[in-house]
Amino acid sequence: MKCYRKIVVLTGAGISAESGIRTFRASDGLWEEHKIEDVATLEGYIKNPKLVLDFYNQRREQCCLSDIKPNLAHYALAKLEREFSGDFLLVTQNIDNLHEVAGSKNVIHMHGELLRARCSHCAQVFSWSTKEMSIHDVCEHCKRQGGIRPNIVWFGEIPFALDIIYDALFDADLFIAIGTSGHVYPAAGFVDEATSAGAYTIELNLASGAQKSNFDEMILAKASISVPQLVTKLLAK
Ligand code: NAD
Repeated sequence: MKCYRKIVVLTGAGISAESGIRTFRASDGLWEEHKIEDVATLEGYIKNPKLVLDFYNQRREQCCLSDIKPNLAHYALAKLEREFSGDFLLVTQNIDNLHEVAGSKNVIHMHGELLRARCSHCAQVFSWSTKEMSIHDVCEHCKRQGGIRPNIVWFGEIPFALDIIYDALFDADLFIAIGTSGHVYPAAGFVDEATSAGAYTIELNLASGAQKSNFDEMILAKASISVPQLVTKLLAK
């Protein structure tokens, strides 16, 4: 394998699947039970805030169960961050905290985090514990009630830290996408940005998607197997 100096990794729901967190689009995925517009849009929240808060309360509860733990893929990426001597950026679409639990220090959660909240009235963002979020909660900053929402990017909203992500993509010589179906933009377009910047691109997934892949290389295996193998090769250089 070539020696790379600037790596950007993008992860999706597939990296957490073996930890027991359901993906969105699998046949047993979350969207099978819920309409996106009901639980993952601002319009859905305005129409029925309780339904949306309950949906994310369930996600948060599931995520923080004691038997939900990072898997070997999360640990391998934490090791890559610790031991790689070049530039490394980990971007995740996931709202769980498994990368952090595995030891990753610098993670961009471009779609937000279950363990952070935002007040719709004063826009303050703050940590949220495992407790349930309710329409009766009062913001500690502006003292108004009824505006607390998960700090999660819903469909139609702009993902976080895009400037940092695009800067890293334009500079990268290796882009790796792990466990993402490539349906949700702008993340699905990162491979094209990285390619136009001259990076080599690798996709790690369980199965190839319906569309023709835009990646230079595809590795089909469970993330818990493919990610540690790839990290070992990258660190051997
Ligand atoms: P997705 O459900 O659309 O796609 C998951 C992908 O992972 C699929 O391509 C699937 O083939 C692959 N996959 C499944 N198991 C795998 C495994 N063991 N190893 C490797 N690959 C595996 O998810 P997405 O592309 O991340 O995009 C949808 C949205 O889902 C994102 O916005 C994300 O925020 C959200 N989401 C997050 C979580 C989480 O935080 N864990 C869970 C569900 C959805």
